[in-house]
Amino acid sequence: MLTHNQLDIRWLSDVCRCETCGSSWAQGAVVELDGVELLRLSPSAHCTDPTSYTEEFVYHSILKAMDFTVKESFDE
Ligand SMILES: [Zn+2]
Repeated sequence: MLTHNQLDIRWLSDVCRCETCGSSWAQGAVVELDGVELLRLSPSAHCTDPTSYTEEFVYHSILKAMDFTVKESFDE
């Protein structure tokens, strides 16, 4: 069942320099599974409507894209 697959994560960043608000920064990623694009979360830095993806969001999206169902719980 477990085969070796290569997952490549290329982190992307975008910077926006605004004369009024200063500079802002956004991150995203392109993910490839065995050389085939699985996911593209393009960042867009902008002072009013930025698009940024946290590392956690990217990993969750990868699991979803790979059709895993993730159930999380906390040890008490
Ligand atoms: Zn601005």
